[in-house]
Amino acid sequence: MLQPMSLIIVIDPGHGGENEGGKTDNYTEKELTLKVAEAMKAQLEKYDDVKVYLTRDSDADVAIADRLSFANEVHADFYVSLHFNMSVEHDIYGFEVWLPSRSDLYNRAYPFAALIHEDYTSGTFDLFPRGIKTRLGNNGDYYGVIRHGTEYGIPAVIVEHAHMDQANDNWIIPPDNLDQSLYVLGVRDAENLAKAFHLTSTALGRDYSNLETPVGTASGIIAPDETPPEFCRISLLETNAEEETIRLLLEAEDKDSFITYYKISTDGGETWSELFGYSRTAWNHSEPSMEITLKVPADRDLDVIAVVMNSFDKASESNHLSVSAFGLPEPEETGEEEEAEEVSEAAGPEKDTESSETDEDETAVIASADEKTERSTGENSFPEAEKGASEGETGSVFRVPDLYQELDLSKTGELLDTASSNDLFYAGTFAAIALLFLILILTVFGVIIGRRAERRRRRKRAGTAGSGRAYDRRETVRPDKRMTSGRRNDATDWNDEDVGPDADDWL
Ligand SMILES: [Zn+2]
Repeated sequence: MLQPMSLIIVIDPGHGGENEGGKTDNYTEKELTLKVAEAMKAQLEKYDDVKVYLTRDSDADVAIADRLSFANEVHADFYVSLHFNMSVEHDIYGFEVWLPSRSDLYNRAYPFAALIHEDYTSGTFDLFPRGIKTRLGNNGDYYGVIRHGTEYGIPAVIVEHAHMDQANDNWIIPPDNLDQSLYVLGVRDAENLAKAFHLTSTALGRDYSNLETPVGTASGIIAPDETPPEFCRISLLETNAEEETIRLLLEAEDKDSFITYYKISTDGGETWSELFGYSRTAWNHSEPSMEITLKVPADRDLDVIAVVMNSFDKASESNHLSVSAFGLPEPEETGEEEEAEEVSEAAGPEKDTESSETDEDETAVIASADEKTERSTGENSFPEAEKGASEGETGSVFRVPDLYQELDLSKTGELLDTASSNDLFYAGTFAAIALLFLILILTVFGVIIGRRAERRRRRKRAGTAGSGRAYDRRETVRPDKRMTSGRRNDATDWNDEDVGPDADDWL
């Protein structure tokens, strides 16, 4: 009996047995990969003329060479190794697909990798794209599954779905809804594979046979990008003393790949922001420049640097941009200063005493400003970043932070609305600090009035102290811990919206 030629797919759930893969408090990679693989197999088997194998269907430690020789035995047309990622510094996030460096195999794998990139960055399923890549070792391809696959002439790919150690990715695999989210990933992987190989499904009523899919056109050996971005420059567009913000232009270019992330320091590189997505119009195309608004302490000099990274995680540092203090002290201080100048000529020997008092106060301001800088560049300061991108902008910008919004007091109302225990705690803390601050203002005001009265009496005493310190304390009460609530919202969005559109795939 003549049977139609079947497409033979081998799905490889990465790791297994004692080889657990990555592990965090919430995830063990070998368990995640098996669940995604089972869902992917079940979905693929709904398509006509396709035969699907798993390299393991239990918690077994199978050697990589054995996995590929098995694929060879069953005459696999395509081999997909499923993984989840982690990074050394726990700062990287997003997904990526690794391909064989030999161009004939690369081109056969490319449509699937490109479809995954288009799919994972679409709509509310907004994972951060890290690209389609190759990696070379001493004996050809660096990764064993790809190298062994190449030996057998089988295009083998590695899909790194998300970073288990990064909150920016964890929303796609929420620990409290893990099985379902892994199932969705497996179904999506299967659909992308079905599209890449132009399959049809009588059972699902789907026909991808005439679907236009991305085409791989590489030749020779596809080498990875070994060089960092060629160009990275930061310049000042605007300072805003009232809002205490600076607007920056970040320009970056990498001819071999594309820019993925950037980070910013305002203290010459001592402390850094987390990694933010550089502006892109498509998953593989970075813009020549982007604007960044940064909340900063306006009363001190800044040494701003940016670092940009390409899709191979090679980094380049920008120029140093000096931004002089552009915020002025409180208006009332002007009066004090004028008064001080008026009397300084007559003050004589007492002037020295007054200056040293002023110095002390300046130190206090700087110390406090340091605290603020830490917060505005530290890890917890840009919570809205990924939320903005996943909810709003139609894919043109990946997770661009709105630093100013983050620290905006007008958002307190929103914070209360979410009514979680954390938020209420912060709101309560904020109210208490505000009350203390009010008392402090009144006290400082009283001291100033008292001093003025005394100065008038003595006519030879002057002071500029006080107001600068009060100004600074006002700044420090701004709530800045929205990160948790932002990410929690993301998880909710995913549950409510993203599973919905997929429902017909898996119900
Ligand atoms: Zn892995």
